[in-house]
Amino acid sequence: MRTPLAAFLAASLLLAAPALAQAGPEEAPWQVLKGELTREHFEKYTEVPFDLPEGVKRITIRFSYAGKEQKSVIDLALRDPQRFRGASGGTRNRLTLSTEEATPGYLPGPLPAGRWALILGVPNIRPGARAPFEAQIFLERAAQVTEFADTPIVAKAGWYRGDLHMHSGDSDGRCKAQSGVSIPCPVYRTVEAAASRGLDFMALTDHNTTAHYNAMRELQGAFDRMLLVPGREITTFWGHSNVFGPTDFLDYRMTGPNWDQARKWIDAVHAEGGIVSINHPGAPSGEMCMGCGWRVDGLPDGAIDAVEVVNGGTMRETRAADSALQGFAYWTSQLNAGRHVTAIGGSDSHEADRPANEPGAVGSPTTVIYMPELSVRGMLAGIRSGRVFIDVEGVKGRFLELSALAGDRRAVMGETLPVRRGTSVRFTVDVQGVTNGTVQLVIDGKAEPAYRAAIEADRAPVLAPWRGDGRAHWVRAEVRDGTGRLLLIGNPVYFVQAE
Ligand SMILES: [Zn+2]
Ligand SMILES: [Zn+2]
Repeated sequence: MRTPLAAFLAASLLLAAPALAQAGPEEAPWQVLKGELTREHFEKYTEVPFDLPEGVKRITIRFSYAGKEQKSVIDLALRDPQRFRGASGGTRNRLTLSTEEATPGYLPGPLPAGRWALILGVPNIRPGARAPFEAQIFLERAAQVTEFADTPIVAKAGWYRGDLHMHSGDSDGRCKAQSGVSIPCPVYRTVEAAASRGLDFMALTDHNTTAHYNAMRELQGAFDRMLLVPGREITTFWGHSNVFGPTDFLDYRMTGPNWDQARKWIDAVHAEGGIVSINHPGAPSGEMCMGCGWRVDGLPDGAIDAVEVVNGGTMRETRAADSALQGFAYWTSQLNAGRHVTAIGGSDSHEADRPANEPGAVGSPTTVIYMPELSVRGMLAGIRSGRVFIDVEGVKGRFLELSALAGDRRAVMGETLPVRRGTSVRFTVDVQGVTNGTVQLVIDGKAEPAYRAAIEADRAPVLAPWRGDGRAHWVRAEVRDGTGRLLLIGNPVYFVQAE
């Protein structure tokens, strides 16, 4: 079946020298395998070998060949030193494999060092025809942020709406089978629910596992207008945290509620380019919700990037976004400690079938993020920047942006504005989709009536100016409806003393 290697090399295989630098999937290839198939290879399988080094986390191959106009066909398959790793016939020109997930048609799993081979089958090639091929091989030697799509879902900057916290049957998410019985919910049903709500992005965050990523890669191809974000709920005995970006194993097995234990996974997430968000920090811990409240001591500055301030599951219990069981107290304590930590929300949906108008359904709450592009890296950059607001009920068209003007310098949510003592700062709040209610500025955690304004049709709310005192402060805006129900929560503009 296999053409002997020597014979194949004689048939014009050229092995390029390995690249020196560690290469990500979009950088220079680690190796380029080139060769040419002719009628000699017709109805045969030809192996093109390469020797994978130790410690590879992901292998990505781009494959191309010429001669299609003469009906030459090369079918592609792959084997590692131990087993067959999949096949794609003539249908794919790019494939990727990691421990956790792989291009459909290929098998995820360990990437053992040793002799791998492309298996090239030739079902058709005419006498005299030549089919030169090229396989570019890219390696990741350190885990990094995973994108399931090859290119951004939308390549332009803008506000994008999504749900950052939900569970499928890869942990404890459930939905109804054909017969009506409750079953562990397949990933596609959760993704369909998010798409049906018109979301731009969704993070599936099953508890501790990495098993949902393979399905997400497959589904991303079909849901090509909605970004699928790799997430995971690191679920410990002393608190839960969503991590976004990485797909490799993170060691959640803390043996105590302290930083030395938590840093096992937090440092890994950051090293790989991901972010860490503390989930439902105000939830009680006990038999009803095991390990739910955040009780880990001694986190240094920079350990966390975000806090889930509104959790849909908690909303279902309390019916109010500003319940003491939500994340406001923890978030405020972080901000008052001088940390720039972004508030986000998440439905914590465990039931893809839950009707859209109920709290805790997929998309309720929605987090709205200003991103440089709609991609996983774009979303992470958006959360890091802090230009984010929470739409408690997930109503498309609701919008909140806060900007501050001091002299000729302006800052929006997440940004820092230097102000001198005595400088007057004017705030502008852009509210859309709420016709009747109030805007409140919250300054260092306090909501004073002096910084409240009515929302009236066709007129931007007018807020009293605020005067800097030369010290660090943070100011955020929130919007309530006419009955006082909290609808929109913005992230802070930060102030520091001017030089
Ligand atoms: Zn949780
Ligand atoms: Zn959860």
